[in-house]
Amino acid sequence: MSTKIGFPRALFYYLYFPFWHQFFKELGYEVVTSSPTSKLNMDMGIKEAVNDACLPVKIYHGHTAELKNKVELLFLPRMIRVRKYDTETFCPKFLGLPDMIKNSIQDLPPLIETDIDLFRGKLSLWRLCHDIAGSLKIKDFRIERAFLKGLLAQDRFKACLAKGYLAQQAIDYVLYDTPLEDIPLPRQDMELAVLGYPYLIYDNFANEEIFVRLAQMGVKVWTVEMVPPLRMNRYKKSLPKNLFWNFSNRTIQAAFYYLNEHKIDGIIHVTAFGCGPDAVVGKLMELMAKEKGRVPFMTLSLDEHSGQAGIITRLEAFVDMLHLTKGKIS
Ligand code: SF4
Repeated sequence: MSTKIGFPRALFYYLYFPFWHQFFKELGYEVVTSSPTSKLNMDMGIKEAVNDACLPVKIYHGHTAELKNKVELLFLPRMIRVRKYDTETFCPKFLGLPDMIKNSIQDLPPLIETDIDLFRGKLSLWRLCHDIAGSLKIKDFRIERAFLKGLLAQDRFKACLAKGYLAQQAIDYVLYDTPLEDIPLPRQDMELAVLGYPYLIYDNFANEEIFVRLAQMGVKVWTVEMVPPLRMNRYKKSLPKNLFWNFSNRTIQAAFYYLNEHKIDGIIHVTAFGCGPDAVVGKLMELMAKEKGRVPFMTLSLDEHSGQAGIITRLEAFVDMLHLTKGKIS
């Protein structure tokens, strides 16, 4: 029986899981994830995490606690940089995540700890994969094969996100051959950019199924991951100075793209209560939307107390207001 490696279904899971799943699988391991976020594992996370952690970090603690007795190894990387020759980093909570987890959660299984710093691009990733495989006492041809299969899976995953599939649908399709369903066409002439960090946008429990709610209201949704990479790069220098954080810059660049090149009816910024980077990102996007002819803008702030009714009411009010301004209802 294969050794089980745990990968919590939270934070970077929503953008990088396909690569790591294929990599470890090709090395002969079974990759096990926690169950989708629920009240049960979120409450576990709230209990384990420090009080001032943001919701996504608390959720990560919960998923780790759920997994710890089900696996023989736990993958716990420190995400530092992922863009080639770019100094932007992940937010400080990501940088300190392994330390937080080790200090908060008792009786963890042995950890695969590594710093993910891809400043030198795919070469850094290739070296990193060799280091990880080396720490698992693997030194043969399987490493190259695992690396290539990981890249292939990651490319297919990104292509699905670009078409508008949710991260979990894309993961299920790429890794487990679950057929993709058709993306429902909007019933009404309403298109919204729903922008924010992937672990908030794609965690259906944390965001109270925002995509389902908007689809039920007949709204077509656009995300950060749906922006073509070349178009995104075009807005890399749009601010006088870039922010320090990777996901924040991606969110801002996507907002520039949708405001300048895409006819959207409004922007919903999905954020976590108490998120430091988003205090800047949210305000910047609001100003950008205002400057661009007062494009309607709403912030949806999530925490462990966000209730379904409150979120639905806010979404409905925003969509109704947009219909009113478009003269569709009176
Ligand atoms: S960017 Fe914000 S939401 Fe994300 S981990 Fe950092 S503090 Fe939390």
